[in-house]
Amino acid sequence: MTKIDIYDSTLRDGAQAQGISYSVEDKIKIVERLDELGIRYIEAGNPGSNPKDLEFFSRVGALELKNAKIIAFGSTRKVGVAVEYDGNVQSLLLAGTRAVAIFGKCWDDQVTGILRTTLDENLSMIGDTIRFLKQKGLEVVFDAEHFFDGYKANSGYAMRTLGAAAEAGADCLCLCDTNGGSFPEDVFEITGIVAKRFDTAIGIHCHNDGELAVSNSLMAVKAGATQVQGTINGIGERCGNANLCSIIPNLQLKLGFECIPPSNLERLTSLSNFVSETANMAPNEKAAFVGKHAFSHKGGMHIDAVQKHPASYEHIKPELVGNSRTILMSEVAGRSTLLARINAIDPTLNRDSPETRRVMDRLKQLEYEGYQFETAESSFELVVRKILGKYTPFFNLKEFKVIANEPAANGINSTAMIKIRVGELEEITAAEGDGPVNALDMAMRKALERFYPAIRDIKLTDYKVRVLNSDAASAAKVRVLIESTDHLESWTTIGVSTDIINASWLALVDAVEYKLVRDQERLVRH
Ligand SMILES: [Zn+2]
Repeated sequence: MTKIDIYDSTLRDGAQAQGISYSVEDKIKIVERLDELGIRYIEAGNPGSNPKDLEFFSRVGALELKNAKIIAFGSTRKVGVAVEYDGNVQSLLLAGTRAVAIFGKCWDDQVTGILRTTLDENLSMIGDTIRFLKQKGLEVVFDAEHFFDGYKANSGYAMRTLGAAAEAGADCLCLCDTNGGSFPEDVFEITGIVAKRFDTAIGIHCHNDGELAVSNSLMAVKAGATQVQGTINGIGERCGNANLCSIIPNLQLKLGFECIPPSNLERLTSLSNFVSETANMAPNEKAAFVGKHAFSHKGGMHIDAVQKHPASYEHIKPELVGNSRTILMSEVAGRSTLLARINAIDPTLNRDSPETRRVMDRLKQLEYEGYQFETAESSFELVVRKILGKYTPFFNLKEFKVIANEPAANGINSTAMIKIRVGELEEITAAEGDGPVNALDMAMRKALERFYPAIRDIKLTDYKVRVLNSDAASAAKVRVLIESTDHLESWTTIGVSTDIINASWLALVDAVEYKLVRDQERLVRH
């Protein structure tokens, strides 16, 4: 199997995405997770751009990484400045990494129009910088900015920039589709020409402005590139970078290249969720391979087919990338769907078991009351467990009270008091919050944390309210959906009531109980 070096830029190019700002702590954690997955290069930032990055480089230098090399990123020397006096090149050295990436221009118009220098000076800037860094004993990746556009405008000059880098000793020539507008056939053709011309390793760095970053990266590999740059979940400025969560499984499972140790592939989904969470972005449920819906099925016939012949609606086994098949619950899905969900909890039951009938009846009843379990599978699992007797309550609610405090001081406008019982012990706590549901959530956690410390890991990531039968005015029911996550997975729970606080309470309790049930299961399995 040909090995492909995966080069992650989640912390550098990915950090350019709107709304993303990682703390040093976040970055360290991401580095550790990327290293565990088996990523070869981690581009960690530009030490010249801010002091936070230098602090990070000194901390990351102390980590003992198993697979990854840390890369500091910067540019070639400036126009007319000797390389040894160039501030940015100096700060690259200060980062103390064993490998660096520098970007340089390859598009003639940009050299004359933006850098406002001569084409020859640009070649010297590339050559001087790389030669200097090689003399310092560093591994050097040359990021050929705008390479494909530059090649189309003036192929001779674009090739000379690569020639300057190769001659100076660059270890990899990385071709960049900087504005993300290239097409796969062009990337394939041009990468092929470059790969034939140079002995140096070729890399590919694509942006997703035409929704083609993954295709373009795959085509570059087919044409001879052996290093692929991208980010986890494709995060990055504008429409993002090439998504490594799609590139890695496509290369490894479909095209027969080795990007990471095969046994690590099943960590991909959890890494994807981890990065979304750390970047404080809602995970993309529709993401290929790692999304929550990537292997979810709805509708009776599909489900029958996918169970008899998985390949009919699943292009790979979900477990290969650490994902899992989800059967969306609904009355229309029919009994085989239901049975699959029931069998996940008790494999001995069949279509005709009385328990299956009871679950079916209960589901119909709940759907009639306004529940719908298509997204709230976790609440559904709890319903099934309760009917099958596979559930012991973790706590009992004695009572709760929620008080609104208006006018609000600093956004804290609600107080909740809660009384619960766990075994023989009773706990009363109160908490304040931004809104009654938040106050209630805080009070419940405070009360339960003493008994179940794992509750601290739960984060609520989404809260949705929908008014049902709205023609009934104030007596209308509301349906609350709550999405939670704990680093390992995310789950959705539901509550329905004529009272929004009560509906929220039901969904909150399910969220906590589901987490505790799952933790219990994991304990049993290990
Ligand atoms: Zn980029």
